[in-house]
Amino acid sequence: MADLTNASIADPVDLLVVGAGVNGAGIARDAAGRGLSVVLCDRDDLASGTSSRSGKLVHGGLRYLEYYEFRLVREALIEREVLLRSAPHIIWPMRFVLPHDKSQRPAWLVRLGLFLYDHLGGRQKLPGCRRLDLRTEPEGEPLLPGYSKAFEYSDCWVDDARLVVLNAKSAEQNGAVVLPRTECVSIRRDGDLWQATLRADHSRAERQIRARIVVNAAGPWVEKMLAGVVGYNARSRVRLVRGSHLIVRRLYDGPQAYLIQNTDKRVIFVNPYEGDYNLIGTTDIPQDADPDQVAISPEEVAYLCAATNRYFKRKIAPEDVVHSFSGVRPLYDDAAEDPSAVTRDYVFDIDAEAGCAPLLSIYGGKITTYRKLAEHALEKLKPFMPKMGAAWTGNAPLPGGDMPDADYESYGIRFRAERPWLPQAVAQHYLRCYGTIAERILGEARSLDDLGRHFGAGLYEREVRYLVDEEWAMTLEDIIERRTKYYLHLSQDEIARFAAWLARERGTSQAHAV
Ligand SMILES: Cc1cc2nc3c(=O)[nH]c(=O)nc-3n(C[C@H](O)[C@H](O)[C@H](O)COP(=O)(O)OP(=O)(O)OC[C@H]3O[C@@H](n4cnc5c(N)ncnc54)[C@H](O)[C@@H]3O)c2cc1C
Repeated sequence: MADLTNASIADPVDLLVVGAGVNGAGIARDAAGRGLSVVLCDRDDLASGTSSRSGKLVHGGLRYLEYYEFRLVREALIEREVLLRSAPHIIWPMRFVLPHDKSQRPAWLVRLGLFLYDHLGGRQKLPGCRRLDLRTEPEGEPLLPGYSKAFEYSDCWVDDARLVVLNAKSAEQNGAVVLPRTECVSIRRDGDLWQATLRADHSRAERQIRARIVVNAAGPWVEKMLAGVVGYNARSRVRLVRGSHLIVRRLYDGPQAYLIQNTDKRVIFVNPYEGDYNLIGTTDIPQDADPDQVAISPEEVAYLCAATNRYFKRKIAPEDVVHSFSGVRPLYDDAAEDPSAVTRDYVFDIDAEAGCAPLLSIYGGKITTYRKLAEHALEKLKPFMPKMGAAWTGNAPLPGGDMPDADYESYGIRFRAERPWLPQAVAQHYLRCYGTIAERILGEARSLDDLGRHFGAGLYEREVRYLVDEEWAMTLEDIIERRTKYYLHLSQDEIARFAAWLARERGTSQAHAV
């Protein structure tokens, strides 16, 4: 894959996008498909910032209705089905059960919210909401007997880190140069162009490039970028709010998720995760420290365990937490007092004095709205780049999502029937991670032996080589945490053996520890 020193980069390039989270990767893809020359760089791995640490929902955001965020909710509701069609392998529908009792928001308010949710727009495939009698329906089984009523509604699940990789891949297929582990260390205006210095993480090699437009998609580092890289004395407009998730062994059988209301009125998701687990979150804590230092606190663990224990028969304690992760929301500061109430909508700041090269900075946003955000960003940039093509991503599948009629189930049946030798769990993994690209990865293989060395839990050498050769994976974390979730399925010994193999393959003795 191209690296900073050998990449062929236009001079000047139309667009330099700094930050390969979901927003930067989405903008790079959209821009490249409109015919612009694009460089997308990230100082670390793709999706190594907030975009691999989200709640992994493509959702309208039921709770945002309480803050009258109708524009955001409507856009997000419509996007659910657009994204579902474009990547049915990594995005799938999920039903959410909302147990209800008298201590919570009144039932009429919940019903009104769900009615709006069903009717604000865009719902074609996803089933609408319904009431549940928890005393008779299976969804009541894992819950404490005090809960007899519930509502149930639809949203979607997404593999957030893979969504970023697929956008970067699509950007590359459309001609963009994608440079992970390449930091933008400075940009300076030189008339109607930007002069940018990029630095490769490993070799420390630097390269100057010229760009007509720079997009600052650095997420929680958006202002660090403005101050440190551009040299601006920017007034602070970003509100950094940490959110953490716990991973525990699954509390119940069944594909449904639960949305539970805590005593402080905050809502918490308990979602099925990676087959054997539940993902529980999130919190809203002001992140005063550097976003690089983000970590879950013991208080957050206790808070999430206590909220879960108010609803489920199976109790959890901090010792039951198998893993946890925390991310920082780069929210636009609308001066709300409560971190949960700060707007989740996105805001653009365009700095473009007459005759000067423009800089577009992005605040806020959600995984769910990244594609619309990208379209809106390019609309903003159109006056500076009138030759750009029209919006195109609304009907275009992401890599691996090009299944007939976006029908994942039928595609899966055919895929499995053609490979009776592939164990069900391995087939499921390939289908979910790679969609139609799985056929290319498996190639002419006719047995598991053809997949090379087995590292455990269905991870074979052939998949690793694909990730390294085609998805910019380099380290242990890239492979088993972001491109896949094998870190939850391999034993510690297997991880150690895989790390040692990877280090040997890479000719280095330092594969990063998980
Ligand atoms: C706990 C939590 C739960 C969430 N849940 C959901 C959810 O369920 N659904 C949903 O839709 N949204 C959710 N979100 C919101 C969503 O995750 C974020 O809005 C989104 O991931 C932000 O993406 P980004 O591209 O702006 O930032 P990031 O993903 O952080 O990307 C910014 C990138 O910029 C890079 N960078 C920084 N400085 C430089 C530099 N100088 N040079 C090169 N690269 C640089 C960083 O390395 C980083 O990779 C959640 C967020 C959190 C924190």
